[in-house]
Amino acid sequence: MKRKLLITGGAGFIGSHVVRLFVNKYPDYQIVNLDALTYAGNLENLVDVKEQPNYSFEKGDITDEAFIEQLFEKYQFDSVIHLAAESHVDRSIMDPLAFIKTNVLGTAVLLNSAKKHWKDNMEGKLFYHVSTDEVYGSLGEEGFFLETTAYDPRSPYSASKASSDHFVMAYHHTYHLPVVISNCSNNYGSHHFPEKLIPLAIHNIKNNKPVPVYGKGENVRDWLFVNDHARAIDTIFHHGKIGDTYNVGGFNEWKNIDLIQLLCKIMDKKLARPEGTSAQLITYVKDRAGHDLRYAIDATKLNKELGWEPSLQFEEGLEKTVDWYLENEAWLKNVTSGDYQKYYNEQYQKR
Ligand code: NAD
Repeated sequence: MKRKLLITGGAGFIGSHVVRLFVNKYPDYQIVNLDALTYAGNLENLVDVKEQPNYSFEKGDITDEAFIEQLFEKYQFDSVIHLAAESHVDRSIMDPLAFIKTNVLGTAVLLNSAKKHWKDNMEGKLFYHVSTDEVYGSLGEEGFFLETTAYDPRSPYSASKASSDHFVMAYHHTYHLPVVISNCSNNYGSHHFPEKLIPLAIHNIKNNKPVPVYGKGENVRDWLFVNDHARAIDTIFHHGKIGDTYNVGGFNEWKNIDLIQLLCKIMDKKLARPEGTSAQLITYVKDRAGHDLRYAIDATKLNKELGWEPSLQFEEGLEKTVDWYLENEAWLKNVTSGDYQKYYNEQYQKR
């Protein structure tokens, strides 16, 4: 089936990988990337696909009802993969309302337009909402998040994503909108804005700057290579069951400090520095407010029902990621100019 597919947030980190995969793999699909190009959105992430005939870009805000309406009119979408969001927990602590606006209201605006345009014929339509494992809250040392785990969001970011998930399911139950949701663990890979742990550490190590680690570095996260997340989204988009939720994860838990130590080792090797040089840059900083201890996702359902599994071991993925950042200095320089410095100083220097 040919698709008229709207991808929101396609200029961001994960979105750009999803756009690239779909544009290259499905030449018959008409793919429209809608992005507001906030600080996290960057069309340079898509230089290799921008000339493809099945791809187009629209700049706009998902909270702008009239604009979204006009976009549905213009393209007659039959499917949506919704990734646009404010995505950084630390920023959500500084400015929760921006997260409520984009993540909750923006999602509702998209749902509403989809409902309006599809109400007479829901056959073959799909609203796919991309979400996070953070909606499930925090785990102790044992246990995993399952699709049946009760929501218990604890940061403004996760609360806004949990709320958007609930609206997606509410539109399914109330209006029979065909939806699917996936909740994924932490992603890493190329084109990741250097405010998140891994790209920030790579950037700072390279520039001999302190590498901030929250608290004692004891927090545990599951990590998945971003290309594997994009593959999971492809699988779920085409084969997921309407009304279902799928957890996506790497079966790959790391304490932050162990991850940073591994990254330091890789960076020493890549930069031809004596072993142990980069680790000297590790600097413990005051913990994030309400920092969840451990997230661990059980992706068995996606594996058993749809046959997806991660394609890379963590060290291999991390090496690929480091290589990309070292080979793409111009990208990094571009995104770390201007506002980035202001954010960075507010977040780490005044502690
Ligand atoms: P990102 O911050 O890199 O990209 C978000 C994109 O959305 C940017 O291009 C930005 O310009 C765009 N955007 C923001 N507000 C917008 C608005 N109002 N209108 C239109 N576009 C807007 O985020 P990411 O890390 O790529 O995450 C993408 C999605 O995946 C998010 O929904 C996030 O919650 C989810 N997710 C992320 C992770 C992760 O580890 N990064 C893990 C699980 C789920």
